[in-house]
Amino acid sequence: ESLDKGLEKSKTSFFTKLSKAVAGKSKVDDEVLDNLEEILVSSDVGVSTTLKIIERIEKRVAVDKFLGTEELNQILREEIAGLLSENNLGNATEFEVPINKKPYVIMVVGVNGVGKTTTIGKLAFQFKKAGYNVVLGAADTFRAAAIDQLQIWADRVGVPLVKQQMGSDPASVAFDTLQSAVAQNADIVIIDTAGRLHNKVGLMNELAKVKKVMQKVIADAPNDVLLVLDGSTGQNAFEQAKQFTAATEVNCLAVTKLDGTAKGGVVIGISDQFKIPVKYIGVGEGIEDLQVFNKFEFVDSFFK
Ligand code: GDP
Repeated sequence: ESLDKGLEKSKTSFFTKLSKAVAGKSKVDDEVLDNLEEILVSSDVGVSTTLKIIERIEKRVAVDKFLGTEELNQILREEIAGLLSENNLGNATEFEVPINKKPYVIMVVGVNGVGKTTTIGKLAFQFKKAGYNVVLGAADTFRAAAIDQLQIWADRVGVPLVKQQMGSDPASVAFDTLQSAVAQNADIVIIDTAGRLHNKVGLMNELAKVKKVMQKVIADAPNDVLLVLDGSTGQNAFEQAKQFTAATEVNCLAVTKLDGTAKGGVVIGISDQFKIPVKYIGVGEGIEDLQVFNKFEFVDSFFK
């Protein structure tokens, strides 16, 4: 129910526009398809993913000969869910933390302002609630505010934060964090990293160094690299996904601020374009406003 509420804006706008696109129409013609294309693009699904969806609908329309909004809704929802299924992109689960893998290391990347700190706080809260011992590491050392914000979240959740002063070497903070986590026999480490998009090589080098140094403590760290993207920023989110996936091996995404946007379609486009599953979506500023992404719920929330 909270997902419906969170995605209300996306839903309303998508559905309203969709209804308009087929209003007064008795069949799906070129005009309807053009309108649909425009709706998908303006909902930030992205051009190439939109064209893929339109193409599929064209194929089905020729075969199915359907009429009206309801059928179009149904077909659209089937095709979008199908797209997410194809690469197993919509079947995300929570992080699976093996019992014999201690500590489990999650490295979090993303630019400032996207909701990275908040997402880490929410995740730490979920893990703690599930009974895990969590340690956070403040390896986004470029801004003092980033470290302070993370400290506020660590205090709120009640988990330790390993930090150094602003401007210190991110790799050094990551190293300290892992050592501390090992010493405490912690279950899960969440490392906050790279908050600025310097040039591509700079980003790549910074993240590579953080990884390399972590591996001195735990050979296979990090176990996951989570990229946080702001779902309300549309094309910027695509651009950031491009840069971060080029710089390091991102294996899952969190898309934030889907409560405050009419552009939830970005989730569909990004997972399709980058073939990386969206694991979590942020639907508010509160500590509980992080949900495991569920493709059926998500697609349904557009069409209900
Ligand atoms: P960071 O700079 O990437 O670490 O960003 P922060 O975590 O500090 O978040 C930036 C702002 O976005 C803060 O005001 C957060 O409360 C807000 N924020 C983060 N996630 C969400 C979300 O899912 N929904 C909404 N509405 N706000 C969010």
